[in-house]
Amino acid sequence: MRFLFCLLLFGVHFAGAQTAYTVETVPNTKVSANQLVSDPEHLLRQETVDRLNQQLAALESTTTAQVAVVVLPSIGTEDIFNFAQSLFTTWGIGQASKDNGLLILLVMDLRTVHFHTGQGLEGVLPDVICKRIQEQHMVPLFKEGKNDEAMQAGVDEVVKILTNPDYAEEIMADEFESQTGWYIVFPMILIGGSIALLILFLVNRRKFSDSKKPLSTPYGEMRLSRLGWLMEFGIIPLIIVMIYKNSPLFDPWVEAVLSLYLYFTLTLVHKRLRMRPVVERLLEKKKYKRIVEFFEEYRTGWLLSAIFFPLPFLPHYFLYKRRMIFYRNHPRDCEKCGKPVRKLDEVSDDKYLSKEKAFEESLKSVDYDIWLCDSCGTYFELVYPNASSKYLPCPKCKTRAYHLKSNVTLVSPTTSSSGKGQKTHACEFCGHTVVSTYTIARISESSSSSGGGGSSGGSFGGGSSGGGGASSSW
Ligand SMILES: [Zn+2]
Ligand SMILES: [Zn+2]
Repeated sequence: MRFLFCLLLFGVHFAGAQTAYTVETVPNTKVSANQLVSDPEHLLRQETVDRLNQQLAALESTTTAQVAVVVLPSIGTEDIFNFAQSLFTTWGIGQASKDNGLLILLVMDLRTVHFHTGQGLEGVLPDVICKRIQEQHMVPLFKEGKNDEAMQAGVDEVVKILTNPDYAEEIMADEFESQTGWYIVFPMILIGGSIALLILFLVNRRKFSDSKKPLSTPYGEMRLSRLGWLMEFGIIPLIIVMIYKNSPLFDPWVEAVLSLYLYFTLTLVHKRLRMRPVVERLLEKKKYKRIVEFFEEYRTGWLLSAIFFPLPFLPHYFLYKRRMIFYRNHPRDCEKCGKPVRKLDEVSDDKYLSKEKAFEESLKSVDYDIWLCDSCGTYFELVYPNASSKYLPCPKCKTRAYHLKSNVTLVSPTTSSSGKGQKTHACEFCGHTVVSTYTIARISESSSSSGGGGSSGGSFGGGSSGGGGASSSW
């Protein structure tokens, strides 16, 4: 019998923990017992409830502000913001004339605490402050399961702020400092960058395609118009910053990285589009080699894009390389008789190359294509220097076989004196050697790395709701 009773009690208690409260079923203890804490399931200890009731009653009598604390096991599938809003207005928390009410709602199964402020309190308790109280004073304790301590700490902060407005100002100053992290840095980068570029824009007028001055590049199409330039480096970044500042969609870090990624991807896609008319123009004149050179000139940039923005630029890079090879091998006509010519393979072209050129080809510092006309017997060679080769033209024989052969430290630098090094350049073809020495700067006293300031988190979701208040989950 006794066992059954226990079971029943446990069952009731267990079922009670799952009870989803509605706005109507939350006991209004202010009306029934003149108490500001409503904890129908006794989820807080009685001593905590008593202390909070005392504190909040004292607060009301000195400031007339009403702070209601409601602790519920569950509100079912109801949205916590809507629930709080509805409970707040149903009960009418705060003096009607001052609207100085605050509802602190803790919902256990959501692991969320929500502050809902009346308009009269939004000045002293703005959303950022509510959020800060939750994240700094409550969430860490809730995470440890110390619900009583967490609620006590939150109420303590609220009482401090409402009784001493100077304290709120202190927190505000603090708040600004803690936000001077990534929140500020990212827009600063874009805005600062935009200003710097704007100055460049004014100084460097010749760079624009609609400038009256002659262009210094054969690829005029790659230049942006003045308007395009302003859009790309001024207006679009500003729009992105504005979206970023007003959207609490993601974690600020995620959002900053995403928008930077998006921005650079867009500018790169635009750049790729501008390459198209250059290719078309050269194609029309059958200048296939010029197209390859043009692609080569921009290749490193696209390689970097592929590394930093693998999507979509890694696949793009492979296509880009394929395009280069395509134009290099594009069928062409004999310059003499106009008949089609054919490209010789790497082995059979060697007999048409001088010793120097064959050597360069073996070092892969220069690639030569020999095109032979079978009709008239003439041949012509096309030269493709390998931009990523370590070999440079030799100062003596001009062969691209000259490179840094060794670089040794003769005297090591210390903190008090500079050192000495020796570089040896040599040509692999003619053997021409140049030895040069250079000084190595003395070692500076190592400066200790600056301690990184940990910025306050902000990844608990929730976020501030525009309607006066804030929630934090854990
Ligand atoms: Zn010919
Ligand atoms: Zn040489």
